[in-house]
Amino acid sequence: GATIGILGGGQLGRMMALAAAQLGYCAHVYAPEPRAESVAAQVSAAYTQGTYDDEAALAAFAAQVAVVTYEFENVAAAPLAAILPHAALFPPARALEVAQDRVNEKSFVETLGGRPAPWMQVDGAEDLARAVATIGAPGILKTRRDGYDGKGQWRIMTPADAAGLDLPAVPLIYEGFVEFFGEFSVILVRAQDGSVQFWDSARNEHEDGILARSTVPAPAEIAAQVPAARALAKQVAAALDYVGVLTLEFFATQDGPVFNEMAPRVHNSGHWSIEGAIASQFENHVRAILGLPLGSTELVTQGAVMDNLIGEAADAWPQLLADPANHLHLYGKAETRPGRKMGHVTRLVQ
Ligand code: ATP
Ligand code: MG
Ligand code: MG
Repeated sequence: GATIGILGGGQLGRMMALAAAQLGYCAHVYAPEPRAESVAAQVSAAYTQGTYDDEAALAAFAAQVAVVTYEFENVAAAPLAAILPHAALFPPARALEVAQDRVNEKSFVETLGGRPAPWMQVDGAEDLARAVATIGAPGILKTRRDGYDGKGQWRIMTPADAAGLDLPAVPLIYEGFVEFFGEFSVILVRAQDGSVQFWDSARNEHEDGILARSTVPAPAEIAAQVPAARALAKQVAAALDYVGVLTLEFFATQDGPVFNEMAPRVHNSGHWSIEGAIASQFENHVRAILGLPLGSTELVTQGAVMDNLIGEAADAWPQLLADPANHLHLYGKAETRPGRKMGHVTRLVQ
């Protein structure tokens, strides 16, 4: 079979490569770390170590693959133009530009009628004082770019907290704290003909800013907010000429769904779909970028619960494996670190 090119060498790329292999395709990973440090490389035929702004290296990589995708959105969009003479890039670079910057993604979603938390751009201490005075506290100060798993975030409970902060010299955003009764994600796949399918929305529970558990189906009070959230996600996908899997995260509130952020890629809250859906998010992403027909996103049982194995929680894998109902996934990371996603375990609800 042909080869798909994947930008990014983490566990999402690894699971994409495994799905591609099942369909007879090879994977070629492009990432900045040495090959031995990439968990995607462990299951891929080829690897290029290169930076995401090296246009010559990106072009040479693209010349060796049928299509390029990414598992990591913190890649500058402009240098990716070097890929286009050689291979298609899906999702398109515009999706990266929008999703990798919290100001861009919130403004973009607002133009489509979506509702994020109240927010203001912050470029310095004066901006922050003004934002806290305008929006109020509590709130969260976040880096506009490069954040994940709650990294690059500061909770601000009072204006005095803001005044005492030693601000990092990067673009920031201040968001009002959303009083939510639950969190959920919408994950869709959009094919090259523009058709869209959704997986069931999971209820997502976070601990210390990191996803801990995703449960499908979500409870009724969350499920009631999914249609409005899906309508927004579908508009986002159409406006971006999107191809592949797209994720939007939402807060479920008394006033309806509040948009949190989007990821132009497969998502941790969709890992349950590997065993829990007829076609997983990884398989349908691969199918979509290759222009193949999509598989059904329907549940295969009543539901599923996915627990992340974070840090040393993964050391308990022998006990997890001893329960024959568990679907255990370990990502092959050599080093266990606190807060690091080492694997996950899924249980189907019969
Ligand atoms: P991810 O790993 O999902 O990309 P991230 O680092 O981009 O995470 P966010 O999704 O912005 O972080 O925030 C992580 C979690 O912190 C959210 O899922 C939510 O639980 C909480 N949170 C973030 N922003 C807000 C907010 N404005 N109001 C209330 N809670 C929030
Ligand atoms: Mg994020
Ligand atoms: Mg998030």
